[in-house]
Amino acid sequence: MTPLFQHIAKEIDQKGPMGLGHFMWLALSHPQYGYYMKKDPFGRKGDFVTAPEISQMFGEILGAWLRACWQLLGAPTKCHLLELGPGRGTLMADILRVAQKYPDFYHSLSLHLMETSPVLSARQKQTLASHQIQWHQNMATLPDTAPLLVVCNEFFDALPIEQLTLTRKGWQQRYIGLTADKTALTFIDLAATADLVATLCEPHSQKPKAGDIYEISPTALDIAGELAQRIAKQKGIGLWIDYGPEKIRPGDSLQGVKSHLYHPVLENVGDVDLTAHVAFARLAHVVQRKGAYAYALTTQGNFLQQCGIHQRAMGLKKHQSPHGRVMIDQALERLCDDHAMGDLFKCFALSHDGTILLPSFSGPYPLVAFPPDG
Ligand code: SAH
Repeated sequence: MTPLFQHIAKEIDQKGPMGLGHFMWLALSHPQYGYYMKKDPFGRKGDFVTAPEISQMFGEILGAWLRACWQLLGAPTKCHLLELGPGRGTLMADILRVAQKYPDFYHSLSLHLMETSPVLSARQKQTLASHQIQWHQNMATLPDTAPLLVVCNEFFDALPIEQLTLTRKGWQQRYIGLTADKTALTFIDLAATADLVATLCEPHSQKPKAGDIYEISPTALDIAGELAQRIAKQKGIGLWIDYGPEKIRPGDSLQGVKSHLYHPVLENVGDVDLTAHVAFARLAHVVQRKGAYAYALTTQGNFLQQCGIHQRAMGLKKHQSPHGRVMIDQALERLCDDHAMGDLFKCFALSHDGTILLPSFSGPYPLVAFPPDG
């Protein structure tokens, strides 16, 4: 049993079943025992590998894209660049290496990272030691004095979710309880709170039916809403890369991962990464409600290829050994191919003005509304 299990078991014993979102928050972000708070989970020896850790090309393409966006904003002399959940800092380092090739762009940037993990913040400080950066625990301390560029990769999938199931008794909400002998955690469904059901009302593409499970991340909606509000007010552009479907679909996408393998969500709590699909349509709704514009999703594969990742690969290969060239081709395949990350991962963009044509994006996010009943 992990120390976090003891902590959670005690809390359930005292207060009764624990909401799934609170459980996920403890599992990932408990200040002492949370998964992200105590270790660096990335890489082959860790639990999972993210796109920036696969190849420098990912961050370099994002760097070039952000520079194009900065030009579309009118090349302001001051611009905030914010990354949410920067992991090891690799993505920002690759973005900034490209940015430095364009001194006007680089010198206009004031750099901000939002990160809750002390271990990963320390790692980011090492990776990004040559740049001047401000760290934030949340968005309250982020200045609103200039246009804002926002980027994140695999950030929203790490935020706590709630799950709602439609039953004959109405909407039920997922909680975590203890088994009878109190040695393990178990899922329990109880009547859902009215507030949570109200947030479901938005962009369903089909009428919920009995047995359907729907997921909502109130934290993700809050953060997306705050960013959209800032982008609407300060002007700016955001790019959020993550995995999840375009339309809201029923289903349980919560999963645990440890050492590159799926792991039961309720076992070894605090030592296992927990993620859920990002409900992009819900993010798009909140973005629009806060006065910003949400673009239609594009896949990671399309985005990287349209922004020139093959040309970048050719450039890099010129200076490589045969083995190095093979490694670059393998990275390209992992990042871009449909059977790898290319199709599963989606790029979501937003801006203050839908008439701005962003490279590799076209048209508005197609949203449909469907009120839930039950
Ligand atoms: N973007 C990185 C890391 C993704 S993992 C990459 O692509 O490699 C998720 C990251 O989000 C970690 O850095 C984690 O510590 C951070 N994180 C999780 N919840 C957070 C929150 N509420 N606020 C800020 N950062 C958070």
